[in-house]
Amino acid sequence: MNPGGAEPDAGNPGFVHETWAARVVFRAGAALTATAEEARRLGLRRLLVLSGERGADTARAVADSLGPACAGLHTGARMHVPVAVADRGVEVARAAGADGCVAVVGGSAIGLGKAIALRTGLPLIAVPSTYAGSEMTPVWGLTEHGAKHTGRDPVVLPRSVVYDPELTLSLPVPLSVTSGINALAHAVEALYAPDGSPLVALMAEEAVRAMADALPAIAAAPDSLPARSRALYGAWLCGACLGATTMGLHHKLCHVLGGTFGLPHAETHTVVLPYALAFNAPAAPRAIAAVGRALGTDDTPGAVRDLGVRLGAPRSLAELGLKEADLPVAAEQVAGQAYANPRPVTAEDALAVLRAAYQGRAPSA
Ligand code: NAD
Repeated sequence: MNPGGAEPDAGNPGFVHETWAARVVFRAGAALTATAEEARRLGLRRLLVLSGERGADTARAVADSLGPACAGLHTGARMHVPVAVADRGVEVARAAGADGCVAVVGGSAIGLGKAIALRTGLPLIAVPSTYAGSEMTPVWGLTEHGAKHTGRDPVVLPRSVVYDPELTLSLPVPLSVTSGINALAHAVEALYAPDGSPLVALMAEEAVRAMADALPAIAAAPDSLPARSRALYGAWLCGACLGATTMGLHHKLCHVLGGTFGLPHAETHTVVLPYALAFNAPAAPRAIAAVGRALGTDDTPGAVRDLGVRLGAPRSLAELGLKEADLPVAAEQVAGQAYANPRPVTAEDALAVLRAAYQGRAPSA
């Protein structure tokens, strides 16, 4: 156990680091020029292309680029992968005789590809256009009866990831900001994860630096390919941190708020992160220092909040539509589940963090 992922020394006896075998292609234009080649390398000849309705145009272009290796386009992806959506995806993949899937656009499409992989073993290629990071993890999620269940299985890890910063040019600035801060949350929690490593710590600090540089540049010039590339580079590192470690209080809070209360994924992460970080700060000084170095600040939770607020992101759970009466229910759910966190969390603690995030006031430990 090596919280903070520091080098082994007298205080840190060692670490375990596992590298997932995902292949990454990162290049402007790669969605249309590299996906077919990735499929060939994997020996795949009948690919079902997956997206949500809003990503359908991009997915169609990727499907066209596959030529005869495209077995169909299915635009049924939905946020948090409801079980009925996964069932339908499996049916469509079987009916198309697919030997693999290509998930195009956001984490929702990748989530559907993972759900299909979990049931059928079909290999997945991911072509992400948000910063959510799912493409770098063996974690699947399914939502049923108002609760989101997640698990880890190497079969759902995309075999190849095609990062194309050009695809992200159309990501609206507000979503770029919240998706970018969603990504930061992976790097931040990796820095105090019980299964961190020196490599994860290096990736996490670099990821925070890259993303925090890129987001204001994107807000100022959404068409800037260098800024888009830097954000996607940061998102890749954040996703790798997420895949390599076990997340803590912040992810558990967002998981409950998204799965049970239907709050939007990236926005919820953006609002909650400063408060989860402020709560964990006394128990995670190395992580706070690393994020502070990357952001150039002595007030890490405050700077994380300012990054979003300066760029127009939502500040409070109230703004996202949560009701005050939901807070104790969410707190009980969070406290009732087992998860790794540097500081023990009681139901009262979870409620205090949620209340602060609900009100959107300045974070304090
Ligand atoms: P999303 O896939 O739902 O995308 C959000 C919205 O952005 C959608 O309406 C989409 O059409 C639009 N969009 C995406 N890219 C665009 C672009 N380039 N231009 C214009 N519009 C674009 O949301 P997300 O934030 O990418 O992913 C969230 C989902 O991923 C959640 O269900 C979350 O639980 C899951 N997730 C899973 C993991 C994991 O490891 N399993 C990790 C991160 C996120």
